[in-house]
Amino acid sequence: SSDQKADIALIGLAVMGQNLILNMNDHGFVVCAFNRTVEKVDRFLANEAKGTKVIGATSLQDMVGKLKSPRRVMLLVKAGSAVDAFIDQLVPLLSNGDIIIDGGNSEYGDTNRRERQLRAKGLYYVGSGVSGGEDGARYGPSLMPGGSEEAWPHIQPIFQAICAKADGEPCCEWVGPEGAGHFVKMVHNGIEYGDMQLICEAYHLMKDTLGMTADEMAQVMSEWNSGELDSFLVEITRDILKFKAEDGSPLLDKIRDAAGQKGTGKWTAISSLEYGIPLTLIGEAVFSRCLSSLKDERMEASRHLRGPSQTKYSGDKKQFIEHIRKALYASKIISYAQGFMLMREAAKQFKWKLNMGGIALMWRGGCIIRSVFLGNIKQAFDKDPSLSNLLLDDFFRDAIHSSQDSWRHVVASAVSLGVPTPAFSSALAFYDGYRSGWLPANLIQAQRDYFGAHTYEQLSNPGRWVHTNWTGHG
Ligand code: NAP
Repeated sequence: SSDQKADIALIGLAVMGQNLILNMNDHGFVVCAFNRTVEKVDRFLANEAKGTKVIGATSLQDMVGKLKSPRRVMLLVKAGSAVDAFIDQLVPLLSNGDIIIDGGNSEYGDTNRRERQLRAKGLYYVGSGVSGGEDGARYGPSLMPGGSEEAWPHIQPIFQAICAKADGEPCCEWVGPEGAGHFVKMVHNGIEYGDMQLICEAYHLMKDTLGMTADEMAQVMSEWNSGELDSFLVEITRDILKFKAEDGSPLLDKIRDAAGQKGTGKWTAISSLEYGIPLTLIGEAVFSRCLSSLKDERMEASRHLRGPSQTKYSGDKKQFIEHIRKALYASKIISYAQGFMLMREAAKQFKWKLNMGGIALMWRGGCIIRSVFLGNIKQAFDKDPSLSNLLLDDFFRDAIHSSQDSWRHVVASAVSLGVPTPAFSSALAFYDGYRSGWLPANLIQAQRDYFGAHTYEQLSNPGRWVHTNWTGHG
């Protein structure tokens, strides 16, 4: 009936917004739809939302009047100024305790700012990562909400109903204050870049050093997908490798090898530099896309620059494939360990209490990086909620120990055969650095003190800064 009040309003009727509305409707919630271009509301109600309980609004005033209290308004609009524009229009229409949720890909710094501004006006603000693309939004996304915790009890029933489920548990938990939800979504996207790059390096090695066909590699992916590497990305890689063009050859071979990016992996790399946390694998994954996109330059260079004379692997093929699998697995552990290090540092900087195990669970299903592996991470944080580094968890430590000979063999082989494996290699370099009680940074300190009198600490007396007159002059 026309006086039925809606549980939540959703603004933004592009693909994500429409699918989330239909998902909420499937779970029994009454949603009021609105869009800047208002004609799209009627079009949506007459088409995609036909026969549902979804109601529409003709203006923001109209929309706000159709909502139960506390009002819940979710934005799925283009990230950036569109979000601020809607917030500015909504604030005068809302009352104390009402809730605005931003489900777009906003930068966490914007969400920090918006949460503080709205809190000062008596409103609650939630910035939620939404992952899983269109299908996820429609049938179960991974949701990463953070911001005003007071809002959580009011949105929890909706979010945990519509999100993906993994092993029966909802892939949505409260992440933390302010922009924590969007920060975690950003790290998710960075990890996604890393996971994709790792699979690409395995593909490159199998294709070039073992001369494997796409069908053979699809078979390998299929096997990998039934073990430790069981994940959405390995699964779709299998299907991509199998996919044939009209002429019967693998479609993959016809795709120009220049990777695009929208920037979310870059943000993770930027914040890793900002906070001084070595997310080397994600950084390499972003740079690899940059290097790939210099296709014309690479084509030119390939006519001038020589590699090693031997480019084919001479050992046992089956064994090398297994070595590659283990190298991928070990590198993946490093990548996630690095991602969690960044989140731990952000938590420290912003004084956020982050729910690390909950984050692993949110990524366990619904999103692009969903995998069995994330269940192991969840277990590690269940065992020890204050775990300082994933690598120190028994399960992951043992996994690295049993993979490392293979990992080293793959990196060494790639180097001698001239195949770039920046993610495998940087992960291994990180591992060797992280496990070292001593690193050659004493020399850096000496150099800095030599040319810039930056002073250094003595091993025997940390905290006491001294300068040496290295040249004996003056
Ligand atoms: P989108 O193309 O990012 O945005 C389109 C929506 O934003 C439309 O409703 C549009 O209204 C509105 N909009 C754009 N500029 C506006 C402005 N200046 N003022 C007011 N409204 C404005 O839509 P989307 O792909 O569905 O994504 C929505 C959000 O979810 C984005 O932040 C996106 O990054 C994020 N996201 C997307 C995916 C995905 O797979 N697509 C996955 C996760 C997250 P009009 O109809 O009036 O133009």
